[in-house]
Amino acid sequence: MAERLMLICGPCSAESEEQVMTTAKQLKELVGPDYFRAGIWKPRTRPDTFEGMGEKGLAWMQRVQKELQIPVITEVASANHVEKIAEYGFEAFWIGARTSANPFSVQEIAEAARGGHFKIFVKNPVNPDIDLWCGTIERFRKSGFDDIVAVSRGFYPFSKTHLRNLPCWEIPIELARRMPDIKIICDPSHIAGDTKYIAGIAQQAIDLSMSGLMIESHCCPSQAFSDSKQQLTPTEVKDLIDNLKLKNSAINDRNFELELGKLRDKIDILDYQLIDILKQRFAITNEIGEIKKSHNVAVLQIDRWKKVLESRSEYAKTLGLSQELISALFSEIHKESIREQQEDC
Ligand code: PEP
Ligand code: MN
Repeated sequence: MAERLMLICGPCSAESEEQVMTTAKQLKELVGPDYFRAGIWKPRTRPDTFEGMGEKGLAWMQRVQKELQIPVITEVASANHVEKIAEYGFEAFWIGARTSANPFSVQEIAEAARGGHFKIFVKNPVNPDIDLWCGTIERFRKSGFDDIVAVSRGFYPFSKTHLRNLPCWEIPIELARRMPDIKIICDPSHIAGDTKYIAGIAQQAIDLSMSGLMIESHCCPSQAFSDSKQQLTPTEVKDLIDNLKLKNSAINDRNFELELGKLRDKIDILDYQLIDILKQRFAITNEIGEIKKSHNVAVLQIDRWKKVLESRSEYAKTLGLSQELISALFSEIHKESIREQQEDC
């Protein structure tokens, strides 16, 4: 059986008592989220934009928790925020992407939270640095917390894309490999940046066995003070959830297991062949390195490299392989050849 998804839903920001209560009631009725989220202190790129309602928003969230019995969660970015949410009875908080990238702030928050009973959600840092993400999780572990969930919310795109943030799925996959006991959920709203891409991103996350979703939802998205383009109405969240194709993470069919096993055996053989071929290729590039050195010729021959890259991508195209993959692969191989041919320093 596919496991039940953890759902965290609510607006980007708490804006008014009415907006918070209306959204929470609709979400409770339609979706039944595990947590109701809303930003109280908003990390904004530019000053003089809406920076959150601050402490008075905490009282509205407390009402949701008491009257609707939905646990509430918000972002904390300082020791003072931790003290404030504890005063208002929060038992969970999340670390935002900007804070996750700042070890000083994370340490300060971890110290302030020490001794408290919090479930902690750690978003990935804005920059695609797996060590920084792991480091943030480790700082909370060292402060005595063992109920920690990682949130994959995408990474800053250095070139223009249709998405607000790049999913870089290889990074949460690496996190799962390094920290198998940490559950990972996805925030498709901040990856998408636009309501039309949220469902697709959410499905991709589920296909990767992620354990849940954090989705921004507002009773009236067009009126939202922040992230208006990426907020779904509670009804739209319900549709999204109803249309998700949940997947089994474990294999429990004998025939399927046998079939998969046979195909995986073939892959294993090919992978070892690939490694053997690479070994042969590097032996030749090392030989080339030696003759370049003895003839006092530069290691980098840009025209040759251009030809290699172009011809291999062309060939890949005729086979229907991704040219992007082949050029990334050959860039890595070339980098290693250059490194081998260069003098040690
Ligand atoms: C948010 O969840 O509203 C938020 C600001 O998220 P992030 O830190 O991922 O940008
Ligand atoms: Mn937001």
